[in-house]
Amino acid sequence: MKNRVKMLLTMALALMFVFALASCGDGKVSPLDAKSDIYVKKVENIPEGFIFGMDVSSVLAEEASGVKYYGFDGREQDIFKTLAQAGVTHIRVRVWNDPFDENGNGYGGGNNDINAAVEIGKRATKYGLSLIVDFHYSDFWADPGKQMVPKAWRGMSIEDKTDAVYKYTKECLEKLKAAGVSVGMVQIGNETNGALCGEKTWFNIQYLMGAGSKAVREVLPEALVAVHFANPERAGAYENYAWRLDYYELDYDVFASSYYPYWHGTLDNLASVLSTVAEKYGKKVMVMETSYAFTPDDTDFSGNTISDGGAIVKDYPFTVQGQANSVRNVIDTIATKTTNGIGVVYWEGAWITVGTSSWEENSAIWEKYGSGWASSYAAGYDPDDAGKYYGGSAVDNQAMFDKTGHPLDSLRVFHLVKSGNVVPLVADAIADVNLMVDLNGKIELPETVDAVMNDDSKKAVPVMWNITDKKLDEMYSGGVKKYDIVGTADGLEAHCYVSMIEYNFLNNYSFEDGELGPWRTNDIGGADELYVEKKSTDSLTGEYHAHFWSAKSGTVEFELEQDALDLPSGKYKFTISIMGGDGGDTDIYSYAKIDGKVVKTAPLKMTVYNEWHTAVIEGIEYSEGQTLTVGIYVKCAGDGNGAWGKIDDGLLNSMN
Ligand code: CA
Repeated sequence: MKNRVKMLLTMALALMFVFALASCGDGKVSPLDAKSDIYVKKVENIPEGFIFGMDVSSVLAEEASGVKYYGFDGREQDIFKTLAQAGVTHIRVRVWNDPFDENGNGYGGGNNDINAAVEIGKRATKYGLSLIVDFHYSDFWADPGKQMVPKAWRGMSIEDKTDAVYKYTKECLEKLKAAGVSVGMVQIGNETNGALCGEKTWFNIQYLMGAGSKAVREVLPEALVAVHFANPERAGAYENYAWRLDYYELDYDVFASSYYPYWHGTLDNLASVLSTVAEKYGKKVMVMETSYAFTPDDTDFSGNTISDGGAIVKDYPFTVQGQANSVRNVIDTIATKTTNGIGVVYWEGAWITVGTSSWEENSAIWEKYGSGWASSYAAGYDPDDAGKYYGGSAVDNQAMFDKTGHPLDSLRVFHLVKSGNVVPLVADAIADVNLMVDLNGKIELPETVDAVMNDDSKKAVPVMWNITDKKLDEMYSGGVKKYDIVGTADGLEAHCYVSMIEYNFLNNYSFEDGELGPWRTNDIGGADELYVEKKSTDSLTGEYHAHFWSAKSGTVEFELEQDALDLPSGKYKFTISIMGGDGGDTDIYSYAKIDGKVVKTAPLKMTVYNEWHTAVIEGIEYSEGQTLTVGIYVKCAGDGNGAWGKIDDGLLNSMN
């Protein structure tokens, strides 16, 4: 999840709580009446003691801010009771060492130190829920983007820091134990993708994790020790982390992952990477954070990480039903398709708006009670992120409570996956359409769109788009821009997001495939080096470019070119860029060839490092059946040191 918001059990133990729920006095929570309009497909054979978790770390700050939570019957009641009624078994809470400035002002994000965790833990325990303690080992948000050392531990040697982690973890867990909190699992770090507590080498990270693990084993021998990572979609990453932890013989039980469907790859991939770790290293695995938007709309005047029209994967509509289907499928993946899958935790399901009238009103409350993701007081500790972008909840539209604190029907999914809840099929929403149209092409909106049914199946239905010729003309003449065309289908609103683009007819235009691919070189002079190089600082865009170099004078002479494929007849424009030096006398130009014969050229030069020169050839006439080749010719005498250069970004755009 975007960094600044992201900031955001053994089987036997879990079984104990099932038992506790069923039998004991104070912790007794009546089973929820399953009557609901929400469609939930049953998850078959859920393992005994499966963890249905909910992170509500911000809840105390929310309540202090005046937020009220209600039960399914519409009456105000303790949110922990509502969660238990919904089938939640575990409550997750993040713990920061010291999320306060020198004057005692909270950094926000719930101001969650160990005292907040104790309070949350006591209330959870009261309703038979077990706690998952999430140590960030930081004074504020820790995630793949940042793992800042707590103020009090700055400048410590790794030996002293290891000792500090051990003592701190031990003290915190002893406080929870003394308060009678039932702790099922302890995380030693949050989304620790290669960093923790200011340390960036695994050699040091493993010491800190080892110290945390040791403290858990000593104070709470029955609790599970978890490590937590993000980005399951990165090939090989999880296997690599697990291998390192094994190499360093870290003592842990659970390898946990964040899974935000918008960014984190497919569920099949998630099951595959977690199963590999489970099978190779004998670990339990789980999803430690997931969430899904139930509406595209913001409710607290502080922008959200997810809204409509974004460049994200949107597998389900942003509706209450879509949210339920997303969570159901994550549970199904971990419970039935993943080796040793033990649970799924939803992230910050109760982080809703603290007020209804304005940003100013809410901001004052966030600052006072720490109920936004960050307050201005965090600036001293985290000046680059929190210090600039502090504000409210970026996930209020991903909560499982509406803006008035009433539970959404989707919250019942934790309970309903066990039995399933089959209701009549109805269209829940219309799937978005995304179109890319060349500025010189024709905008053709589809005649049908997919209605997404409540069981997540799809059905094509006719659509009426609300568009005028005047609007179309504006789109053709408005340059590169994205438009939201609204329509109606099956009585529901439809959206077609039209991106007007300059379509590039060249492939691998910026060499980002890491190889020449469709580009050809004709190395006339026999250069020492002529290949695709990976170095973002030497690229015009992206990470790769075409590189050349020669020690000997007179050996740099080559062509780099590509045939344009599947080109409609018309008029075209070719652009390409070069930078380089030590060229001596040069003859450099871009060209366009029709059927092998040069028809147009544009001159280029090289000057000094990082000074890019761009040539544009306009008005290339092409008819279908011909072969259009575009490229760059480079000839350098060299000035004694040998010529070198970089070529990047070949663009062939329509001019029709
Ligand atoms: Ca918001």
